[in-house]
Amino acid sequence: MSSHVTRRVSSQLERKRPTHHPQMQMEPFNARLQSFTKARRVKHATVKRTVSLKWPHPAHFAATPDTLTEAGFFFNPSWDSRDNVECFFCGKCLDGWEEQDDPFAIHWDKCRDNCAWAVLRCGLGEDVDRKGKCVSSFRVALAHSLIIVS
Ligand SMILES: [Zn+2]
Repeated sequence: MSSHVTRRVSSQLERKRPTHHPQMQMEPFNARLQSFTKARRVKHATVKRTVSLKWPHPAHFAATPDTLTEAGFFFNPSWDSRDNVECFFCGKCLDGWEEQDDPFAIHWDKCRDNCAWAVLRCGLGEDVDRKGKCVSSFRVALAHSLIIVS
């Protein structure tokens, strides 16, 4: 009898795991990168249908899994916006990516007032190479962003 009760309590705890905070799980770089390469099952809002989605755009786009991940985004598609990405830091969602759309420039442009990641990682156009690796001035940017945040 008591073991039955114990089992019920633990299964309730299982269900209470935070499944609705994808942003927090997406802080590690690799978690964000994998979100683009693993197929995601997405449900239609009303009709009983699902579809498996991966990042839909070709490698010559400025927005690739690598650049998006560096810019702070993870892949979070829905039925209606199949290339939707979300910033793990500020929660900004962006979709409708076109060939020249640069995730760094767009994140900086839209979120520089409320996202430290956008300021820290995306506001250094001239110091970031094509793959998004910082090549200089990182310390200056860090100091700059801390002033803005505090
Ligand atoms: Zn952001």
